[in-house]
Amino acid sequence: MEKVIIIRYSELHLKGKNRGWFEKIFVVNMEKSLKGIKHEIHRLSGRYLVENFEEKDIDLILSRLKKVFGIHSYSVALKVSSDMDEMFNAAQKVCSDSGTFKVETHRADKSYPLNSMQISMEIGGRLLDNNSKLKVDVHNPQLIINIDLRENDKALVFGEMFKGAGGMPVGTSGKGLLLISGGIDSPVAGHMIAKRGMTVDAIHFHSYPYTNMQAKEKVLDLAKILSSYSCGMNLHIISVTHIQEAIHKKCNGDYMVTLLRRFMMRLAERIAETCGAQCLITGESLAQVASQTVEGMTSSNSVIKNLPVLRPLCGFDKDEIIERSRLIGTYETSIQPYEDCCTVFLPKHPVTRPKIKDVEAEEAKLEVEALINEALSTLEVLKI
Ligand code: ATP
Ligand code: MG
Repeated sequence: MEKVIIIRYSELHLKGKNRGWFEKIFVVNMEKSLKGIKHEIHRLSGRYLVENFEEKDIDLILSRLKKVFGIHSYSVALKVSSDMDEMFNAAQKVCSDSGTFKVETHRADKSYPLNSMQISMEIGGRLLDNNSKLKVDVHNPQLIINIDLRENDKALVFGEMFKGAGGMPVGTSGKGLLLISGGIDSPVAGHMIAKRGMTVDAIHFHSYPYTNMQAKEKVLDLAKILSSYSCGMNLHIISVTHIQEAIHKKCNGDYMVTLLRRFMMRLAERIAETCGAQCLITGESLAQVASQTVEGMTSSNSVIKNLPVLRPLCGFDKDEIIERSRLIGTYETSIQPYEDCCTVFLPKHPVTRPKIKDVEAEEAKLEVEALINEALSTLEVLKI
């Protein structure tokens, strides 16, 4: 009796002619997530089987697979021969000690001497004979025991189905560049977009030495967590210290955040061009803080030439975002108290509804292109 994992995929069946391509990427992603652990992945009709692993690794394997987008649900199953005694022994292991159940049989092997209904009745009957605390309920059972009879004289016997990460396989929806701060929101935004199948690279802006090295470490840690969902990423790190100093020296300080955001967007678009990203992604949420107004977004968007900006958190409340960040495991890292560059030189009364005309007048006091080039010269790329 061997333990195996049945993987059911989501949404992929919608993709018609592209299905083969989708599944190929899906399998590559599962293989990547299980790298370094002994296992084999085989295709069955409409699902996959992870098998030939060591039983001690099963929790580790499940914890990795839980992060693979495209998995709709999974079950731990027992693989036995199609001999009735063996199937019954497996069903007994899968079944709880008490409560209601029903047996459902799926027969891929149509040459088996009993039909699906007869197999279910035989196994169900034997379970009842062996345990007086069990009861059959065909309409609303607490547990369904599934017998999946395969063509090769093997049967998979399993109970519960667990929810997978859902979404689409990463790599099937193009590539985006996430502006990642050390905060709570941007990692959640990256996770949401990766879930829709997009490959995500990230860019972080720091103000060293105004911000310390721990702030950078924190972003690295967040990128690592995000990368465990997004099948790896490149993290681009750029210094904007001189830009903040120039704004501080030459412009009305109330425009610090507005102007800095525009520089971040310009730099992100340049990096997107070099790494092949087709959109920018931010963790902005409408009205969450002073700079996150529609006027602020208009000001940021207006410096971008070609790319769309995805703001997946726009309609979320902060507590909804926090809930998600706890679920994906970034929250504890995000709340470490290291300063982000935006808190350096923070004005007392930042403009909240900047008018483009005023923003451009402030920006005209700066050597925009030279500042951008200086920032680009600090670029560091880390493979996560
Ligand atoms: P977060 O929790 O993601 O920091 P926030 O609510 O603190 O978001 P802001 O600090 O105003 O909001 O930032 C809005 C968005 O701008 C962030 O979600 C992120 O996408 C981007 N951003 C802000 N600071 C940085 C930075 N230092 N490097 C890269 N992107 C940044
Ligand atoms: Mg922030």
